[in-house]
Amino acid sequence: MKNKKLVMIPGPTPVHRRIQNQMGRETVAFKDPDFVSDFKEVLHDLKELWRAKGEVFIVAGTGSMAMEMAVSNLLQKGDNILIVSHGYFGDRFIEICNNKAYQVDVLSSEWGKIVPLSVIEEKLKEKDFKAVTVTHVDTSTGVRAPVKEIGALLKGYRDTLYIVDGVCSTAAEEEYIDDMGIDILFTASQKALGVPPGLMILWASPEAMRRREQLATIQDYYVDFNKWLPIMHEPSKYFGTPAINMIWALKEAVEMIKEEGLEKRFRRHEKDAFAIQKAIEALGFKILAQEGNRSVTLTNAIYSEGIDDKEFRSILAEEGVVVADGLGPYSGKLFRLGHMGNIDKHIITSTLSAIERTLYRVGVEVEFGQGVGTYLSNVMK
Ligand SMILES: *Cc1c(COP(=O)(O)O)cnc(C)c1O
Repeated sequence: MKNKKLVMIPGPTPVHRRIQNQMGRETVAFKDPDFVSDFKEVLHDLKELWRAKGEVFIVAGTGSMAMEMAVSNLLQKGDNILIVSHGYFGDRFIEICNNKAYQVDVLSSEWGKIVPLSVIEEKLKEKDFKAVTVTHVDTSTGVRAPVKEIGALLKGYRDTLYIVDGVCSTAAEEEYIDDMGIDILFTASQKALGVPPGLMILWASPEAMRRREQLATIQDYYVDFNKWLPIMHEPSKYFGTPAINMIWALKEAVEMIKEEGLEKRFRRHEKDAFAIQKAIEALGFKILAQEGNRSVTLTNAIYSEGIDDKEFRSILAEEGVVVADGLGPYSGKLFRLGHMGNIDKHIITSTLSAIERTLYRVGVEVEFGQGVGTYLSNVMK
């Protein structure tokens, strides 16, 4: 019998039937009054839920486009920017910013670790940075940055705007924009929101909007705040055709978050992640992210000696679970297990059970139930 495959990669994440159904709806005109009111509602809810005083943008595109949108609206050629990188996606900002001819300073950590706060503090004293970028959860390492603490630090640097890449964290890791001093937070639909890929969501603080005003014109067209702002204030206006069905899908995902409660959703992710990580360790894997800096959205599990990555992942897929491969220096050495968004204990126990069966099939001694049991005993108590 062929299994339904669980997509347990760090995005796209499993899409709930309620959200999928929105994708199948008959597409209407973008000025359709019902659609306009749906669009308004989702914009309003996103601001309120994440406690944002400024603006929110929903634009068709991926997380990488949001990265570009963030910096393009805050900096000009020659401006100083500090990039705090905990892996592959932190590094992506280096390329984006170099292409735009900003003056780039980078603080990188060893993969699995974070850049200490004291190092960031010292760096900030060196020059006048127009912005700092931090990846809340770097998907390549599974490391969570201390976003709140960095935000507190930056309160002493009024001219330095705080950009947080929340693509692998927003709607799972605790994030409140104003409380944390964030100027720009962005995510993409396919990660912890559990919507298919295709939309980016970006929040901008009043300070970020003021900076955009000071720049007058920018070189970028599609990602210009000023082009989209009138639409975000009045969605019946036109700039670029909104991704109607995607926006409905996002609205459904936001409805589901409201039903669950955002705070409860953060706590659910914390509890599940802790229990999953214990289970993964009980099954003999090592976790790349050091304890204390592990994300709640994914776990990067390093293979023990003798397990072949390709064989492991292909057998696991036969057992019904798709996981992602390692990136950069960890290619072939680990698998990345996403556990964010609209998943539940059914999905997680099935996933852990499939990992146990896979270990057995690749010839690793495994006590059946060890992973599932460890998970349940941690999550149920
Ligand atoms: C996935 C991801 C991105 C890129 O998002 P795309 O939608 O693939 O462009 C950026 N940052 C982080 C942290 C991510 O996990």
